[in-house]
Amino acid sequence: MRYLFTNRFGGVSEGAFFSLNLALHVNDNSLHVNANREILREKMDVDAVVFMEQVHGDKIVRIEEAGQTPTCDAMITNQKEIALSVMVADCIPILFYDARHEAIGVAHAGREGSRLGIGVKCLDAMEEAFGTRASEVQIFMGPSIGACCYEIGKEVSEGFDGFLHVKNKRLFLDLQTYNYKAFLERGVLVEHIDASSICTCCDSDYFSYRREKITGRFAGVICL
Ligand SMILES: [Zn+2]
Repeated sequence: MRYLFTNRFGGVSEGAFFSLNLALHVNDNSLHVNANREILREKMDVDAVVFMEQVHGDKIVRIEEAGQTPTCDAMITNQKEIALSVMVADCIPILFYDARHEAIGVAHAGREGSRLGIGVKCLDAMEEAFGTRASEVQIFMGPSIGACCYEIGKEVSEGFDGFLHVKNKRLFLDLQTYNYKAFLERGVLVEHIDASSICTCCDSDYFSYRREKITGRFAGVICL
């Protein structure tokens, strides 16, 4: 198994997308994006990297072959030579690895996806497809916007009780801990969860939609 989280360096995009922007939907030059995706594929040393058309939902697609861009927010596979990728700029990129059954997964956990339980549902899908056990799966949560910067409106705070912080009458959401706790409740072991403490909005090495609005996307990528 190999996995990585990219940052904004090492690609060919320019301006607001400098430089390793992996997203085609943000109005970057598509020649640059495709060159960046090729850089990523070479780095992962696989035949193909599969990306998703992410829509902040809870649909999970099992990938049997490359050459597709499914509309979903999580993917699972046991195919070798295919890397799965999740693109983000503040949302949490989550990677799953089941060594016993040689299976992997990725999930895109923003506020809406997290509320829908996309992370745990991806684990459920791996259990159903491959026999993955929560007590054995390894989970990697990449850089994402932290509670330090993730101010939200009260109208979208429903369901996040216990994960909201109030500072100067403003409401901040701790989305990482929300997802982390959901995995623990599902039976994932503390020592099997590797969660990044990097806040994408604080750290300009990463694309951040909250900080920049017009910006690129970095990615979490995993392959067997
Ligand atoms: Zn921050």
